[in-house]
Amino acid sequence: MKKIVIALDGHSSCGKSTTAKKVAAALGYAYIDTGAMYRAVTLYMLRHHVALTNPKEVCDALDNIDISFHYNPKTKRNETYLNGLNVEDEIRKMYISNQVSEVSVVPEVRHAMVAQQQKMGRKRGVVMDGRDIGTAVFPDAEVKVFMTADVDTRARRRQQELLEKNQLVNLDEIRENLQKRDHIDSTRKESPLRRAEDAALLDTSHMTIDEQVDFVIDKVTSKLLEEAHAVKKVEA
Ligand code: C5P
Repeated sequence: MKKIVIALDGHSSCGKSTTAKKVAAALGYAYIDTGAMYRAVTLYMLRHHVALTNPKEVCDALDNIDISFHYNPKTKRNETYLNGLNVEDEIRKMYISNQVSEVSVVPEVRHAMVAQQQKMGRKRGVVMDGRDIGTAVFPDAEVKVFMTADVDTRARRRQQELLEKNQLVNLDEIRENLQKRDHIDSTRKESPLRRAEDAALLDTSHMTIDEQVDFVIDKVTSKLLEEAHAVKKVEA
């Protein structure tokens, strides 16, 4: 069967990564968490005190950053590595969430990440979640979904996720972080968060994960059938 690119973009904490992982597993596709890449860059920039306003310093830092994903059979998930070290837990902490959008605004950072993501998806057969996948990374993605949910629902879900990682964070702090990130992400100059014209809208406020997965799989099935019909017509 033809392999395609599935782009899931949208606001912070509306279920993108959970949905993307399950869709990828159902289709036997690779899952790429582009937010984890920006989080890993943020960790590096903070640890090395890189001045984000100095393009030369940023470029030198980017030359020293190697991000990869490796499957952990214990946790049964792909985990993020920065220069060979597992940073999966570290990059999910609140101090990274509080800085990541400022780092993601920097054009040099975006250029480097977008190029790497395009390389990762060049053979198609990927589900990528992020903010600019359907608009900048793969504007030709065959299936694009823009996900959102009301901010209180998102904050509660995020709090639960953090709790599962033994992190106790106040709901107001989470809500404030989500709103701040969404604002920076959607108002930045370079590839801002926005719904691509051809992206289907998915509001997950009152949906279960399975319903979200079904929505995306249904879009994928329709697209593949449509393409198969088009091929048959040309052959006839
Ligand atoms: O998806 P996640 O919430 O982990 O993303 C963290 C941050 O990384 C976002 O708030 C955004 O600032 C940045 N990001 C981005 N472009 C992407 C993915 C994430 O700018 N494609």
